[in-house]
Amino acid sequence: MARELRCADLMPGCNFVAQGKDDSEVMKKTAEHAKSVHKMAAISMGIEKKARAAIRDAKTIEHIPSREEGPS
Ligand SMILES: [Zn+2]
Repeated sequence: MARELRCADLMPGCNFVAQGKDDSEVMKKTAEHAKSVHKMAAISMGIEKKARAAIRDAKTIEHIPSREEGPS
């Protein structure tokens, strides 16, 4: 199951979403984003704790339900 973290959960107003195959990949992307966009030199323990708590299962891309096209 892919995982994701919505930056808005930590930084209201930011619409960045980090996705990864697991929590550590999500944390890595979040750290890079926090550095470049939010000018955080480093992720503090408190921020990391909050970020990890905010990681959730990524919603799969909504797919259009295929029509039933069974043999008639
Ligand atoms: Zn952000």
